[in-house]
Amino acid sequence: MAPTRKPRLAVFKFASCDGCQLSILDCEDELLAIAGAVDIADFREASRAVLEGPYDLSLVEGSVTTAHDAERIKEIRKQSKALVTIGACATSGGIQALKNFSDVEEYRRVVYARPEYISSLATSTGIAELRGCPISKAQLLEAVGAFLQGRAPNLPNESVCNECKRRGNVCVMVAHGTPCLGPVTQAGCGAICPAYNRGCYGCFGPQATPNTKSLVVELKTLGMAPPGILRLFRTFNANAPEFRAASEAAAAEATPP
Ligand code: SF4
Ligand code: SF4
Repeated sequence: MAPTRKPRLAVFKFASCDGCQLSILDCEDELLAIAGAVDIADFREASRAVLEGPYDLSLVEGSVTTAHDAERIKEIRKQSKALVTIGACATSGGIQALKNFSDVEEYRRVVYARPEYISSLATSTGIAELRGCPISKAQLLEAVGAFLQGRAPNLPNESVCNECKRRGNVCVMVAHGTPCLGPVTQAGCGAICPAYNRGCYGCFGPQATPNTKSLVVELKTLGMAPPGILRLFRTFNANAPEFRAASEAAAAEATPP
């Protein structure tokens, strides 16, 4: 009888800082178990060995920012039975998506000595999801484990506030008046920033039903002006629709008609 083939796992990178791929390598205790359960077919951050597709599970880091990227992601999709995007860049365009609010041509002229060598689309687009900048190790292992067991991954869609409560954090917004995006941000990090007396800046992106309007009212009560609110929503997940709408509303308020 022919030996059963192990599922083929591939990890692909687009425009990104490689932090989410490093989070995979950071699964030190679990990495051998993963490597035993799958054939790692393509993971350039870890190995030069490459096996041809098709792949059973593809993890995709980074956003689509060039015409070549747009073609490449379609080919990867064709080659993959399942595709999971990992991190803020892949799920909502990442920090690169700030260019969606700007004149890309002007940046190209100002920043690069030879702008003709730079190929870039006008926008940076997410692919669709493990959230975070970088992703949570626990969520990554849950997603890979769920795939191997043929079930849906159990990922939270509640807010970071719930994690604060479970962790016993003192609320930085209520106790110290520190602006915090936790009420509208998807859980998964374990409320790390409030645990260190910092407000959440939304690196896991919007939760399932984010009430950004009420949060903006609270931020204004704390004394935050529209330009500050705009900056708060325009970071790693600036292009996520709910955060984008909140920053655009703040931009409209900040700019006199
Ligand atoms: S610190 Fe932020 S995330 Fe934590 S409970 Fe308060 S508002 Fe929510
Ligand atoms: S608290 Fe907010 S900004 Fe900090 S790691 Fe968690 S989701 Fe990201």
